[in-house]
Amino acid sequence: MPKYVIVGASAAGIGAVEAIREVDPVGTIAVISDEECPQYSRPMISDLVSGKADFGKMMCREHEFWENNNIQALTGRTATSLNLSDKYVTLDKGDHVNFEKLLIATGGKPFVPKIDGSDKDGVFTFTTLSDAENMLSKLEKAESAVVIGAGLIGVSVTEALVKRGLKVTMVELQDKILSLILDPTASEMVENVIRKAGVTIATGQTVKQIVGKPENDKVVSGAVLTSGEQVPCDLVIIAIGVIPRTELVAGTDVKTNRGILVDRSMRTTVQDVYASGDVAEAYDFVFGENRLLPLWPLAQLEGKVAGYNMAGKKADYPGGTAMSALKYFGIPIISIGIANPKDPEEYEILVKHEPERNVYRKSVLKDNVIVGVTLVSAIENAGILFHLMKNGVNVKKFKQELVSEDFCLATLPRSLRRKLYPGEYR
Ligand SMILES: Cc1cc2nc3c(=O)[nH]c(=O)nc-3n(C[C@H](O)[C@H](O)[C@H](O)COP(=O)(O)OP(=O)(O)OC[C@H]3O[C@@H](n4cnc5c(N)ncnc54)[C@H](O)[C@@H]3O)c2cc1C
Repeated sequence: MPKYVIVGASAAGIGAVEAIREVDPVGTIAVISDEECPQYSRPMISDLVSGKADFGKMMCREHEFWENNNIQALTGRTATSLNLSDKYVTLDKGDHVNFEKLLIATGGKPFVPKIDGSDKDGVFTFTTLSDAENMLSKLEKAESAVVIGAGLIGVSVTEALVKRGLKVTMVELQDKILSLILDPTASEMVENVIRKAGVTIATGQTVKQIVGKPENDKVVSGAVLTSGEQVPCDLVIIAIGVIPRTELVAGTDVKTNRGILVDRSMRTTVQDVYASGDVAEAYDFVFGENRLLPLWPLAQLEGKVAGYNMAGKKADYPGGTAMSALKYFGIPIISIGIANPKDPEEYEILVKHEPERNVYRKSVLKDNVIVGVTLVSAIENAGILFHLMKNGVNVKKFKQELVSEDFCLATLPRSLRRKLYPGEYR
């Protein structure tokens, strides 16, 4: 019987395997993944589509990773149910895998709304390697695409398709793109750059129907927007968002909200059962509460914390927050924490916008502590700002400098620099 069983072998699963092996070099580990080769970088699937990376470059661990770590890799297998009192996982062929400690690292799945015609050939979601490979197989004959959703995934797939020479229309229900991470000003700056690259952006609407070709209704030929406009296209990509894949714990005593509830050691509400990554609601140090934060480095760290605790080494998750560092169509963007507060009157918002240089700097403060940062084009101080934010530093004395072009380490009082960067003052 494996001592440790991990369902899901991406960022969180890999983090857990490495942490367990650090503490317990011999305890048996079984990893279950419904993907055949799960150890690839999911954020890089758009690079595969754009042609920037091949499969080899996308691998985040070598092929021999499981073997080298003496793991029983049950890849291409789906965990279908859990029996938490008798401590086993049931797989797709009805076989059981017993465990002493279990980690659920099942990640997220794409949210697919009901759209008439979404079963047609040429409609894709975009979260897995096989989604990217299926799309690639259609690209040679495709000239145009409609991307539904202008969040992080929607914009990255749009950029990849533009690089492949397709004409793309991005459709977004909100009135601005990237509305979860950017305020209207920053969003408009990015929109302008994307439009210049030839992309049509249709905001405030969505796709109500996907239509087929007159000669073969099963193959996509266009998308009808809620405005009634019909956009001709060969491909439709549904990139509305990702929801936690919690179905495995449905009906068990593992408590869920939007994701699985965990404590700081990544334990769920059931003994010996842990959860990490996109499937879990982990601690956000800006909000001071647990939230969904679907980010690769956080998933990996959460997996690591779970792995240590599963193997008997006490570890606490330090917390993370929403953080996106992007370069879309050549424009660098950083968004951290509460970048666009819904109730702005409760915050102090410092902004410097230089439209002529396409530069935007914004810091959001609560009680003189930075809780949100947005940088467009000028991103060089993101590290210092994040450090101040993560350490909850009171920035009252130099807050006006935060959005200045001259802001740098030297802006910080010497005593604060010494405290934050002790290595520099040895
Ligand atoms: C297109 C795209 C771009 C992204 N870009 C970025 C980025 O730039 N920066 C960033 O930080 N994050 C990015 N992310 C998010 C990042 O990829 C995720 O946060 C990260 O992959 C989460 O890791 P995870 O291990 O929790 O889950 P996942 O990576 O979702 O992996 C879960 C694994 O479990 C498997 N699984 C699920 N259920 C079962 C089951 N019942 N049985 C067996 N196997 C199962 C799944 O197939 C999958 O292999 C991006 C995501 C996408 C889709």
